[in-house]
Amino acid sequence: MIRLFLCALLAIVALAQEPVAARVEAIESLTPNVKRLRVRLPKSYKFEAGQFALLSVPAPFVEAWNAKYKTTLASVRRPYSFASSPKRLPVAEFIIQLAAPPTGRDVPPGIASTFVHNELKPGDTVGIGKAMGDMNKAGTGGTRPLVMVASGTGVAPFVGLLEHWFRTKQHKGRKIYLFFGARQRRDLMLDEQFRRWAAKHKNFTYVPALSDPAPDDKWTGATGFVNVVLDKHFTGTLDADILIAGSPRMMQETVKVVKAKGVPDTQVRHDPIKVAP
Ligand SMILES: Cc1cc2nc3c(=O)[nH]c(=O)nc-3n(C[C@H](O)[C@H](O)[C@H](O)COP(=O)(O)OP(=O)(O)OC[C@H]3O[C@@H](n4cnc5c(N)ncnc54)[C@H](O)[C@@H]3O)c2cc1C
Repeated sequence: MIRLFLCALLAIVALAQEPVAARVEAIESLTPNVKRLRVRLPKSYKFEAGQFALLSVPAPFVEAWNAKYKTTLASVRRPYSFASSPKRLPVAEFIIQLAAPPTGRDVPPGIASTFVHNELKPGDTVGIGKAMGDMNKAGTGGTRPLVMVASGTGVAPFVGLLEHWFRTKQHKGRKIYLFFGARQRRDLMLDEQFRRWAAKHKNFTYVPALSDPAPDDKWTGATGFVNVVLDKHFTGTLDADILIAGSPRMMQETVKVVKAKGVPDTQVRHDPIKVAP
């Protein structure tokens, strides 16, 4: 009896891990190497703002990849953050950067991001695993400012969280900041959207920062790495809930900055750097 119960439990757990089939509704370019993917999920699928899920690369694509690049990849799943509010379910969005080979290395590009950028098209289905992560738990119930720090597509969970908070009027009485680092203006995805939100919601401050603006950018905003811009913005001590997403290097540097300003570990939140598929 106990064995039967355990088998049933394992089957339920295994089923819960199974990806669901999501239908692709649209794919659009946000920057030269970032696309926004909009999917329609089954009605039963749930996620919370700021969470992420594993996207499965179909086996035939992996087999063709192995043949082309002489690799030996088996099943391929990669985590991507929901970049939309769960209020829009069954529709959800992701923001995905094409992972180019590291400079000077003769290696293949990233498989999952290549699949999304070059293969997926509206009408296709794609496997999405169950939602994970607890970015949404940041500062629940507190009154401290919420400070988000992102670089590149690390901004994705914050797009979802901000959209959700503004829709539901959550954290209306708190100051909310988004520090967003990119290299050049063309990499500053959704800049217009963030500026519109900042104009509409008086408690929201948007601080874009370019690390290497192009002359044509005519950039008059903050320059330098986003962690340095954050450091300069808050002089003295800081009592805030901090959310960080982006490159591991930026995350490490940002943790150092906020710790030096007296923010305790319990008020700093970020997703895991790697997620086992
Ligand atoms: C919690 C979490 C959330 C995330 N959310 C997002 C998100 O919202 N948006 C987003 O764009 N990304 C996100 N990511 C990153 C994403 O999961 C993938 O890591 C990313 O898209 C690269 O996956 P890939 O399969 O395309 O590249 P991979 O195939 O994993 O390759 C990664 C890199 O390695 C290089 N490479 C390939 N072969 C070799 C080799 N032999 N030697 C050296 N280098 C090699 C590739 O060129 C590529 O640059 C998230 C990651 C985490 C952990």
